[in-house]
Amino acid sequence: MLVVMKNDATEAQVQAVIKEIEDMGYRGIPMPGALRTAVCIVGNKGSVEDSRLLALDGVKETIAVTKPYKLVSRETHPEATVLTINGIQIGGGKLVVMAGPCAVESEEQALTIARFVKKCGAQVFRGGAFKPRTSPYSFQGLGEQGLMILEKVRQETGLLIVTEATDHTNIDIVQKYADIIQIGARNMQNYSLLRRAGQALKPILLKRGLAATIDELLMSAEYIMSEGNSRIILCERGIRTFTENTRNTLDLSAIPSIKEASHLPIVIDPSHAAGRREYVIPLSRGAVAVGADGLLVEVHHDPLHALSDGMQSLYLEQFGELMAQINRFKNWV
Ligand code: PEP
Ligand code: MN
Repeated sequence: MLVVMKNDATEAQVQAVIKEIEDMGYRGIPMPGALRTAVCIVGNKGSVEDSRLLALDGVKETIAVTKPYKLVSRETHPEATVLTINGIQIGGGKLVVMAGPCAVESEEQALTIARFVKKCGAQVFRGGAFKPRTSPYSFQGLGEQGLMILEKVRQETGLLIVTEATDHTNIDIVQKYADIIQIGARNMQNYSLLRRAGQALKPILLKRGLAATIDELLMSAEYIMSEGNSRIILCERGIRTFTENTRNTLDLSAIPSIKEASHLPIVIDPSHAAGRREYVIPLSRGAVAVGADGLLVEVHHDPLHALSDGMQSLYLEQFGELMAQINRFKNWV
């Protein structure tokens, strides 16, 4: 349930509502909006008796929230969330481009790619220092050394950094270096990691699990938000289906569907969806056409020798072409 406060409700009145909710045995989370504050009740199993709340000063009305997720739901927060991270806007009609290699491999590799994607107009540099690999024998990432390289990329190029925390043992160190902490598809339901992400001071990029429904993705985002971190970007990166011609199947319908259900921004990762660089540009156009808030794209200056995901990494000049195409396309859709 959502307790909507009047326009002129005072902070003390909001606090009184939260106290009353706690006395009823639930939690009340304030959600400031453009016009007024609402307090979202979480922790209730069934419906909530609202007469005590309606009697409090400053309360306008109560609204039942029908979805199992509350804080991330549009019902609770009708306006789209727009994040501003070091001056870069994510959500709200702007298209943000996050680009870089699958993994940070060396300073030279990261800087070569970063300088190029920056020149083409990307705002965020991606690159894993801790890599979740299907095989324990594959390259696992450079760890903290990789994070220090990302720090150099940020200093030299001014690009924001998004990089993955793979478990609770590395989220603290990742948070020291990252502007956005990525939670990977394999970890979408790692609830202890989600709770830690909810306590982090940096925004979270939460990727949809390989076989997760939209409701499950939103429930995972709810874990993060219920711990206090409301700066979340969702990411559709392809789901597993019976098809064998692509690595995964990009679920473009997830975009309008998530936008209807949630106020959070959502970006598309065409690289992990496709598994092949040839498909990345057309899928990116699709992402723009369905209203994604951004793209997360793998780019490598020498993909044939990449230590991970070379097949799906764009060559530098292909990334230039992608940027040119989506810039034209953006004005058209
Ligand atoms: C990645 O972004 O490099 C990655 C490992 O992605 P995902 O978690 O979507 O597989
Ligand atoms: Mn990858």
